[in-house]
Amino acid sequence: MNQATTLFPRPEHDHTSCVETALLRAEQLCRKRGARLTVLRRRVLELVWESHAPVGAYALLDRMADGESRPAPITVYRALDFLQAHGLIHRVESLNAFVGCEHPGSGHGSQFMICQGCHAVAEIHDARLDRAIERTADEGGFALTERRLELEGWCRHCAAERSDG
Ligand SMILES: [Zn+2]
Ligand SMILES: [Zn+2]
Ligand SMILES: [Zn+2]
Repeated sequence: MNQATTLFPRPEHDHTSCVETALLRAEQLCRKRGARLTVLRRRVLELVWESHAPVGAYALLDRMADGESRPAPITVYRALDFLQAHGLIHRVESLNAFVGCEHPGSGHGSQFMICQGCHAVAEIHDARLDRAIERTADEGGFALTERRLELEGWCRHCAAERSDG
């Protein structure tokens, strides 16, 4: 099996275990760094991890609304800032939304493949891409500060469904 088959989770995968793993990793990482994963921050992380599709701040606020009460947007933004600062979530700029990081703690640039069908996002960490970008910038005399890459297309599962239909 090449890597491409495993980048996007299968639609029928056990997502509960994705969420559990993500929360466990977050707890371990925060403990190691002496950072406080408060109830609110943990809840926001859990909601970001509700699926592999990125979620926007407003949608998060909606998900957090509990009957009459709704958290103040600023508290949710701060929680998102915290999670982002610790690499627990990534911001997908083209969608203005957030997605959980699968390997928090390892410093990595943002390379994403975004499925237009199921909206799932897969992180890629390809050193060849990094090198190519650096070389191109270098040759163009461009001082690179951000090497964000957001590719759009169809994941294997959605592509298969499209060709079936
Ligand atoms: Zn999952
Ligand atoms: Zn990541
Ligand atoms: Zn898809």
